[in-house]
Amino acid sequence: MADDVEPSDRGADAAPPAPAPPPAVEKSFLVQRFAKIKLGSYHVVGYSVAGEETVAQIPELNVCFDIGRCPYFALTSDIVCITHGHMDHLAGLAYYLSQRYFQGMKPGTVLLPRELERPVDLMLRCWRDIERQATPYHLVPMAAGQLHEVRRDFGIRAFATHHGGVSLGYALVSIREKLKAEYFGRPGPELAALRKAGVQIQYRLEVPLVAFTGDTTAGPVFDHPDVRGAETLITECTFYDADHRTKAKAGKHLHVEQFATEVLPKLNNPYIIIGHVTRRTSVRRARHLLRKLVGEERMRNVHFLMDFEGSADEGEVDMIGPPPPDTAE
Ligand SMILES: [Zn+2]
Ligand SMILES: [Zn+2]
Repeated sequence: MADDVEPSDRGADAAPPAPAPPPAVEKSFLVQRFAKIKLGSYHVVGYSVAGEETVAQIPELNVCFDIGRCPYFALTSDIVCITHGHMDHLAGLAYYLSQRYFQGMKPGTVLLPRELERPVDLMLRCWRDIERQATPYHLVPMAAGQLHEVRRDFGIRAFATHHGGVSLGYALVSIREKLKAEYFGRPGPELAALRKAGVQIQYRLEVPLVAFTGDTTAGPVFDHPDVRGAETLITECTFYDADHRTKAKAGKHLHVEQFATEVLPKLNNPYIIIGHVTRRTSVRRARHLLRKLVGEERMRNVHFLMDFEGSADEGEVDMIGPPPPDTAE
């Protein structure tokens, strides 16, 4: 029963025990690390690895793009925008809705390609039966070009992407009414009278704030004004090595060579964030390969979502499991 001896009984003149060394910091797959970056006006919080999980939240705008799994922070967004039906972008949806209901939050609003409305609705109804919980949800079927007005001054517009099958990207758009230049300086009562008489003294100004492409290969999406004009563009560039060109083509993803020659020259966004990098290439190596193609200067506003301190080197994470099949990305 030595353990029951009171400390005062151990002998007053015994040397105090040496302090234990700090525990070694181990990299562990038991801990999932998320990116949180602030660029310009908004944070991007998320995780994005091809075939595994993509989730990207803009907390200030109450929106989450895709929900491959549902990390805790994603629950706080009232709106989720689903780009396409691949599991790594959608599988967390039922959990997101269920947990929000369970925690007394208002039903989640889910924007998704209209072709996915029916099967996603069926899936969620199944979950109600399985879980025996009447989880509420609000699906908003979207088509390319459609604007979903969240508030008078804020909307979400869908645009077409090129991932084979049904896929959409989304732009978060600030909507403002501005006085037409010809009415500048007119006194308030006169403007009020004009408005009352039905004169259009204002025009509508739409400013894309953040655009998210989801999975896509090169194409007209990168000419879209919302994509080119957003302050922050979050896009994919999945493959980097020369022998992954065929994988990129088959899966309708971007390869770094295509990204450097066909995509990046079109973009004027103040901030560009790349996600969906394959597990086959480390983020550091991905950045190195892109820099080699476009030069240091162009890289100044190009960021990798998963490029945070502690992000894994090539090979390290491959030990966790085999790379995902190409069809799963
Ligand atoms: Zn994907
Ligand atoms: Zn995909």
